[in-house]
Formats: sequence, structure tokens, C-alpha cells
Amino acid sequence: MGQNIRSSVLREVLRVNLAEFMARFADEKACEEHLIKLRWKDGFVCPKCSHTSATLVHAKHRRDADKRAPLFECTRCHRQTSVTAGTIFHKTKIPLNKWFLAVYLVANDKRGVAATTLSRHLDVSYPTAWLMLKKIRKAMAERNARYKLGGLVQVDDFYLGGVSHGDGKSGRGTDQDTVVIGVSIQRGGAPAHCFMERVDDMSAQTVSDVLSRRLAPGVTLETDGYPTYAACAKDLNVTHIVTKSSDDDAHEVFRWIDTLTSNLKKFIDGTYHGRVVYKQAYLEEYVFRFNRRTAGSGLVNRLLNACALAKPLYANSTPA
Ligand SMILES: [Zn+2]
Repeated sequence: MGQNIRSSVLREVLRVNLAEFMARFADEKACEEHLIKLRWKDGFVCPKCSHTSATLVHAKHRRDADKRAPLFECTRCHRQTSVTAGTIFHKTKIPLNKWFLAVYLVANDKRGVAATTLSRHLDVSYPTAWLMLKKIRKAMAERNARYKLGGLVQVDDFYLGGVSHGDGKSGRGTDQDTVVIGVSIQRGGAPAHCFMERVDDMSAQTVSDVLSRRLAPGVTLETDGYPTYAACAKDLNVTHIVTKSSDDDAHEVFRWIDTLTSNLKKFIDGTYHGRVVYKQAYLEEYVFRFNRRTAGSGLVNRLLNACALAKPLYANSTPA
């Protein structure tokens, strides 16, 4: 079975315009077949017993079975798995081609797509469009969480109103909207990747937890010397370079942190009109885009892949 699924087609990059994309994914079967390729790149794995052999069966109770991709039936435990089971598309009532179109629109608008816009383009209700975007952002967040920054990583914290280093008057650590940001810096000074994560406080324990998840072992940490970061560097056993905000070159040293912070604010204000109730989700969308900023039109494939591999939104929904 695995043989049929494994294919070089899996690594294809969809660099197509909207008309080509819609023609290619015009019906459920085309979308399902593409999801199969993305989900089981190395062949089918049963979600229940991890067996790797399956037969394809058609869900006989479904009237449109001939227009759908078959289910996978595990040859060991006989669990039937649909291609959407256990993904963000799990039990969705929205046709997959609308989902694919949503992913295309999100990937191709770097300012981010508002739910009102998506609702109009897909001809779905506002709450439906809103939930779709929420699920797509969750897929982005899962991908972001798998990536660890390495090498030289500058870390700072800011409020969605501005970066804290330098002003020193924003009552650091007391605001519930504090965000910790990290940027890995390449030789030559250009940024490679970033992460952003909301924290409830700036205690060493909280920030160490964030950094241990977001940074690779053996990084060199560069900060403005705030005591929390010194404690984190000790916790993580990594080298710590301090450039104090009062240093003459602080603005130049942390210029990418300043740039990302200011661009994030424009992103949130422009698309979401400052409605930042779901701040972490917007941060994840911004980070996902930034970390794939060289993907160009290949971003749609990356995002489809992220959606195909992400877990359902609700922890209590189980694959069927
Ligand atoms: Zn099984």
C-alpha cells in the first residue's frame, strides 16, 4: 500500500495562479488525493495501531462515494481512516475545495486575510470563515513550534505598543500583553528565523520555558542584559552576550528586533484593525510568514502541508 502513496509528486511545489489552482482542485476527490500525498509521504500509518499496511475501501453509506477518495482500512486492526481524520479538516462540513481556496488566499496575501474578506470570497458565513482562519493559524502555530532557532539568537520582549529596550518605563513584566521575541542572526547580520510568544510574566521560569522550547541547544544568546535573561542563559547553559540599551550601538545591534516588532504591529493594525483578542494566533501567522518569506508562490504548498499535518482544533475531537 505504502508503495502507491510514496511518490516524487509529493515534493512538487504548487506555483500556480488562482485560475490554475481552482481548476486543479475543483472537486473533493482532487483535494482528497492531494491531502493523501501530503499526509502520508512515506506511506500510510494507521493512527490507531501504527501498522503500515492498508486496503482502500469505499464508504458504501455515502451516496457520493464514487466522487470521493477511498478510506484506508488497516489490515491489522481494521480501523477505517479518512484522509481528513485527525487533521484540521476533521469532520468539516465545508467542502475541501473551499478549504484549499482559503489556504491559497491566506498564502497569497501577505497582509493576512480578514474573516469578512474570506467569507465573501468563499460564500460562507462570517463565523465559518472566522473558524477556518483560526484552524489555519493553528496549523501555522504547530509548524512554528517544531522549529528551533540556532546559532546567534537575539532575544528581547515587547508590548504590542512597542519594544521595551531603551525606554525602560513600561513597567516590564507587569503587563499581560508582554511578548518575548527571538531572532536568529546570520553571519553578515541578516535575520534567519524568528519566534514570538506571549508570556504572562517575565520571570526567569516563564522565559526559560519559552526559550527551551524555541531555541536549539548550544545557541549564543544576545540580550539587553535584563536579569531574567541572565538567569535563563544560566538555566539553559548557553553563552550570553549583553548589549545594554544604553550602549551607543544598541539600536543598531537590535535593529531586526525593532523592525520585526514594528512590522508585526502594522500587520495586526492593517488586517485585524487592532483587534488582538487572539494575539498569539496573529503572532504565529506573522512568524510563519516571516520564516518562509523566501518561499514566494511556493508558500501555498507549505501552508497546505502544514494544514494536512496539523492536529484538529479541539483536543476532544478524535479521529474517526
Ligand atoms: Zn491499525
